[in-house]
Amino acid sequence: MHSPQFPAEPSSKDTVERDVPGLRSSASDADRTPTFDVIIAGCGPTGAMLAAELRLHNVRVLVLEKETEPKSFVRIVGLHIRSLELMAMRGLLDRMLEHGRQRPAGGFFAAIPKPAPKGLDSAHAYLLGIRQPVIERLLEEHAIELGAQVRRGCAVADFEQDDEGVTVELADGEQLRARYLVGCDGGRSTVRKLLGVGFPGEPSRTETLMGEMKVGVPQEEIAAKVTEIGETHQRFWLRPFGEGVYSVVVPAAGVSDRAEPPTLEDFKEQLRTIAGTDFGVHSPRWLSRFGDATRLAERYRVGRVLLAGDAAHIHPPTGGQGLNLGVQDAFNLGWKLAGQIRGWAPETLLDTYQAERHPVAEDVLDNTRAQMELHSTEPGPQAVRRLLTELMDFDEVNRYLIEKITAIGIRYDFGEGPDLLGRRLRDIDVKQGHLYDLLHRGRGLLLDRTERLTVGGWSDRVDYLADPTAVLDVPCVLLRPDGHVAWIGDDQQDLDDHLFRWFGKPAN
Ligand SMILES: Cc1cc2nc3c(=O)[nH]c(=O)nc-3n(C[C@H](O)[C@H](O)[C@H](O)COP(=O)(O)OP(=O)(O)OC[C@H]3O[C@@H](n4cnc5c(N)ncnc54)[C@H](O)[C@@H]3O)c2cc1C
Repeated sequence: MHSPQFPAEPSSKDTVERDVPGLRSSASDADRTPTFDVIIAGCGPTGAMLAAELRLHNVRVLVLEKETEPKSFVRIVGLHIRSLELMAMRGLLDRMLEHGRQRPAGGFFAAIPKPAPKGLDSAHAYLLGIRQPVIERLLEEHAIELGAQVRRGCAVADFEQDDEGVTVELADGEQLRARYLVGCDGGRSTVRKLLGVGFPGEPSRTETLMGEMKVGVPQEEIAAKVTEIGETHQRFWLRPFGEGVYSVVVPAAGVSDRAEPPTLEDFKEQLRTIAGTDFGVHSPRWLSRFGDATRLAERYRVGRVLLAGDAAHIHPPTGGQGLNLGVQDAFNLGWKLAGQIRGWAPETLLDTYQAERHPVAEDVLDNTRAQMELHSTEPGPQAVRRLLTELMDFDEVNRYLIEKITAIGIRYDFGEGPDLLGRRLRDIDVKQGHLYDLLHRGRGLLLDRTERLTVGGWSDRVDYLADPTAVLDVPCVLLRPDGHVAWIGDDQQDLDDHLFRWFGKPAN
């Protein structure tokens, strides 16, 4: 297997045909010319976000999704602060806000009910409660609007990579060819398994059933019982969802075969065991099961094949971080892979994806492990929980944990420099309005308070904004397309070195 090597000049076409005819014959062409730049396996939140990011750079993207219809499972999902910032950076936040409910940002670490400290460093310092199917629909629509092609009912079954590209085989035997393949195909990722990348960690110890169904008893009766049981059981709830439908969560202990989807009878049995009644549940909308396995892929890239989202890491849902983490992987990867395909990326840029995102996932897995311990009803963990609850009265402790869960505390290692280097920059006011509104096109940005610097030959990849009034306590910052601070200073030569580091050779 060889590392990718591309000519210095971009070879991609600037437009993507929505309906590419003759796909079936593409891989058997004598020259094996890739029809697509990138094939993404899986149109969950990670795959859809990545497709959109790549389209901002005119990369030819095909998303293959094995399900024929979008998922209806409503995992209780919130977008945390950093994800809201990403949405703002791509002009998607208003769409998301229309469909969600803003809630306080605090209280998510192990569900310890502490309000967020004052003055969190973000213009979007709240949690947006929004259902996962809605997030997925909005992200998929966004990707398609930008020109991504999404094919449903197409499961990636196999692939083979060579020096020029990857041949992807679908479950029905059809073959497609692309320069890169990204597995965004969830925790049981076929792409990861075929790559042979290890997925070490802990297997699932506790299984939980989750579903939506109607109930046969009055709401007051349910409310009283739920309050009583909630005092001793962490993994139990019946919450009204509107139109007589309830969201039901119960432990899956004793439920037979993990490979088989759960049945309404499984839910009834568990309810009777815990509550002494099954509340007359009936007419399920959907039923699902999830575990608390914690695993991290050993590598995020092998040659021309990469992994992102749940395909690269899984952990229990406590703290509500999984979807957020996957969408942020996609945001980190998109511009780097696009740079590689357009031909301007420095040789090592694509590998910074793993260097930056693997440690972030490691940290999320660890904080999730810690949270799971704090949810235990054993006396030891309960004592630790009480102690941590007291410690969170200290502003710094509370702030540290919130910055972790919401991902605004991330600092990538870009080498020595001021604390802001490697961190994301908050959405500050600039003379044209909000900084994030200037990042919709997914390009780099030089924010220059000195009005002396220039992006010169990089102006095809990096925008320039001179604004002496910008609310910043440094002279200039160079932002990467993902909003992280790649350089701070006021010296043109030093800036050029950093433009070269992140954005490759200048044009002409
Ligand atoms: C109960 C529960 C609650 C949760 N709550 C939260 C929360 O509050 N906040 C949060 O951030 N996260 C939460 N999560 C986690 C979140 O749901 C996942 O992290 C997120 O769905 C991962 O997105 P993804 O796109 O990486 O993978 P997925 O959502 O799993 O999407 C993968 C896609 O790939 C498709 N696919 C699979 N195999 C193939 C194949 N071979 N070929 C083509 N397509 C394929 C699948 O059909 C699917 O559409 C929760 C999870 C659970 C179980």
